[in-house]
Amino acid sequence: MTTTDFIKTEKFEDNIDNYGWNDNTCECCGKPMKVKKYYVNTIDGPFVVEPHITDEEMRANGTQSQGIFYIGPECIKKYDKEFRGIVK
Ligand SMILES: [Zn+2]
Repeated sequence: MTTTDFIKTEKFEDNIDNYGWNDNTCECCGKPMKVKKYYVNTIDGPFVVEPHITDEEMRANGTQSQGIFYIGPECIKKYDKEFRGIVK
């Protein structure tokens, strides 16, 4: 199971203050998303794991799921391809 740091930009809190937070907020930069197409799969930390990692695999590695975080199309590029989840 490969992990990488969860990325939150310095502007996140400012953007939440400006735009508010809802189901359509990019969890990386705090801005509203125009398209809700990408996500990252997270575990305790939070850290990001590859999208196909299951809850069972997380538990087998001594950690647990923190769920799916939706990320805007620009911000998802901050992650290596292997970590980019695409909504089906
Ligand atoms: Zn963003």
